Amino acid sequence: MKKYIQKHIFNIQPYQPGKPVQEVQRELGLRDVLKLASNENLLGPSPRALDALREHAEELNYYPDGGCYYLRKKIAEKFSVTFDNIVIGNGTDEIIRILCHTFLDPDTEIVMGSPSFVMYRISAAAMGAGVVEVPLRDHTIDLDGMLERISGRTRIVFISNPNNPTGTIVKRNEVKNFLNKAPDHVCVVFDEAYFEYVDDPEFADGMKYFTPEGRAVVLRTFSKIYGLAGLRIGYGFLPDDIADAFNRVRNPFNVNQAAQEAAAAALDDDEHVQNSTEFNRRGRELLYRELHRAGFDFVPTQANFVLMNVGADSEKVFRALLHEGVIVRPGRFLGYPQHIRVTIGSEDACVRFVMALKKVLVK
Ligand code: PMP
Repeated sequence: MKKYIQKHIFNIQPYQPGKPVQEVQRELGLRDVLKLASNENLLGPSPRALDALREHAEELNYYPDGGCYYLRKKIAEKFSVTFDNIVIGNGTDEIIRILCHTFLDPDTEIVMGSPSFVMYRISAAAMGAGVVEVPLRDHTIDLDGMLERISGRTRIVFISNPNNPTGTIVKRNEVKNFLNKAPDHVCVVFDEAYFEYVDDPEFADGMKYFTPEGRAVVLRTFSKIYGLAGLRIGYGFLPDDIADAFNRVRNPFNVNQAAQEAAAAALDDDEHVQNSTEFNRRGRELLYRELHRAGFDFVPTQANFVLMNVGADSEKVFRALLHEGVIVRPGRFLGYPQHIRVTIGSEDACVRFVMALKKVLVK
């Protein structure tokens, strides 16, 4: 059947997820494996979400609420945004995919940073659209560089803020300038999967630019600070026209009920958000200190991961770390051949990682 498959599909490089703990246990016969590869919240899921999951477990014989009414209402109240402008997806990944489905065809293209979150590229390429990748400047999304690359064919600009895999942010004055100059036909997506971790006061929160009549989209997720990555649920603020299109394209029950209940409960769990940011701050400080001491270069982060230069082939370092029971993300496929990306864990986890790193680099 190969000849009948759309040709552009073969140009897609499949997503390479972080290696699962059980796979490493199975393949290497290790018991104690630490995964620092997928920017998960290593403090765990929101306890309120866990209570909600238990409470609603016996309702799973019913289809979910296809309109995610209760959760959207809570998000609308929390962020003072009109109900109709809120969409829920099977992870932010799904919202990205649907945005691409909504705007793109083979005559159009997206503009994104390079390296940045790879699902922008995959989702655009799946529509046969072009992908314009603008190199980072100083490990940071280069909005001026992006402006230069916007053309009549551009439909979406993806701004990962903070940027995955570098953890850097774009600031308010840069975004203001960008939005003033970017042509009207471009939808500007602020992907804020990690925004709760940010402590830089100059962070350009996309919500400042969101209006129901506008072209700014803001994406967020329950996967990170709320610790619900396994349930697959993210949310977005979409202007009227785009939200309408989204609801025409999405599956009728795209978000399962367990995820909806857990997310709604997590949204009230300010304590977990606070504990998670504190947990991240402590881990980050320790990691910075240890990396400094060991003489590694790293990119200061506003998220829950750190990109660091290990001065060696990242793939080799990744493999050697696996044998020490530590899973990280090699930078080779991210355009950083000598870097690895490491999720910030507990202080113990950070110490274990640095010790393992020193050990494998001495070998
Ligand atoms: N955007 C960015 C920048 C991410 O790093 C991730 C997760 N790796 C996502 C979106 C997807 O998040 P979700 O789990 O909600 O699909």
